[in-house]
Amino acid sequence: MALRKIRVYGDEILTKKCREVREMTPRLKELVEDMLETMYQAEGVGLAAPQVGVLKRIVVIDVGEGPITLVNPKIVEQDGEQEGSEGCLSVPGKAGLVVRPNHVIVEGYDADMNPVTVEGEELLARALCHELDHLDGIVYTSLVKGELYDTDVEEEESEEEQ
Ligand code: ZN
Repeated sequence: MALRKIRVYGDEILTKKCREVREMTPRLKELVEDMLETMYQAEGVGLAAPQVGVLKRIVVIDVGEGPITLVNPKIVEQDGEQEGSEGCLSVPGKAGLVVRPNHVIVEGYDADMNPVTVEGEELLARALCHELDHLDGIVYTSLVKGELYDTDVEEEESEEEQ
């Protein structure tokens, strides 16, 4: 396993659409391992492959309930609404208010390409939406209500970065 460099806002790769994974290769397995390591090291709750420079539909998430790896994920159901602060490992030191569904159901594959369904509420729903957006080249900053703010000024309420 190795840490990967996290691409930051302004890097064109973050605005590109990712390709589906057709087959789980040893190289992509290594990517998944590296993404998890990189996410934990950066203390984020989620990371999408384009954030480490790979245009593949792969995300990893851990909102404190254990690691989730999703390959080719799709939101199949969503309802409710939540408004809350959101941050991103690719936009360090910033956060902003984003409205997301409060509950989502996502279908995809795990790292062994077994079909999986993940159901999430609140923070997990937010993380799923945020990471899946990355796969379509959408960074949360385009969804923010009002202005982005600096997180360093309110360290006590440090935001979950994804
Ligand atoms: Zn992000």
